[in-house]
Amino acid sequence: AAKERGKGRHAVYDARLEQDQAADAQLGAELRRALDHGDFTLVYQPIVALPDGRWTSLETLVRWKHAERGFIGPDVFIPIAERTGLIVPLGDWILRTALRQAADWQERFGTAAPGEIGVNVSARQLREPGFAADVRAALADSGFDPEKLVVEVTETAVFDGGVALDTLQNLVTLGVKVALDDFGTGHSSLGLLRTCPADTLKVDKSFVDGIGGRSEEAVIATAMIQITNGLHLQAIAEGVETAEQAETLYRLGYRFAQGYHFSRPLSAEQVDEQLRAHRPLTV
Ligand code: C2E
Ligand code: MG
Ligand code: MG
Ligand code: MG
Repeated sequence: AAKERGKGRHAVYDARLEQDQAADAQLGAELRRALDHGDFTLVYQPIVALPDGRWTSLETLVRWKHAERGFIGPDVFIPIAERTGLIVPLGDWILRTALRQAADWQERFGTAAPGEIGVNVSARQLREPGFAADVRAALADSGFDPEKLVVEVTETAVFDGGVALDTLQNLVTLGVKVALDDFGTGHSSLGLLRTCPADTLKVDKSFVDGIGGRSEEAVIATAMIQITNGLHLQAIAEGVETAEQAETLYRLGYRFAQGYHFSRPLSAEQVDEQLRAHRPLTV
């Protein structure tokens, strides 16, 4: 009987898997069409200096403008894009669009434009042969300074193996900066900090959330700033939603932050407005 139940469970599992694969394939095809039709758009969230909130860089975040379902967030479609491989052409479009946009801001606003642009890169892209060469070509086409591009990768993506590390090393050789995203949540070990050529740690929101009081998160957030300072890395606190969190982070030694407290992700037009309104034009 146990064997039969086992078999039954297996059949259910297989059916679910097939269903998922079918759903993946269908969404994958939709994503492909969306890319061809120009249905993706980019938003940009400021990273700010503490305590004054001055913009130091912008992180690029992708959105899918779906005809029926409205804006769809990347948490929904990036995993599918990764599984179907569409992340490679989609990622290339994201990188090229972000670089063109950043070059444009630099040209129009000069030093008043945020110094750096961040682009998220998935594990699948890092493992793609020739990824570093593609980045080099995209940089050359945009005319954007490689040292002002920050590639955001997760610990898990880097931990994947030697290929990812080689690719990161090639990017660093181009002058590109590397940030470890969602730091503290992945399959990380602190040893990764010795082998990964990262210059920035983005401390995950989950630690920022619990930063008030004597929580474990507060202890970890404190330890993380000590590690980054000791290793001469930069730390960025992610997902800062309140003034209290910003103040506590500053007191702990954090000098960079990102989150709704400072700004939601903005459309390119909204970034333009901000740059026009708050910063002198260098024309
Ligand atoms: P991430 O790179 O860690 O990006 C931060 C996410 O947190 C963004 O969600 C951002 O909108 C959100 N966020 C920022 N501040 C706050 C806050 O104060 N409170 C809360 N609750 N959330 C905040 P988003 O845009 O939905 O992106 C989710 C994830 O999808 C990203 O996490 C990144 O891993 C991935 N992603 C986004 N854009 C891209 C992309 O262009 N390429 C790739 N490969 N992945 C992307
Ligand atoms: Mg990121
Ligand atoms: Mg992040
Ligand atoms: Mg995060």
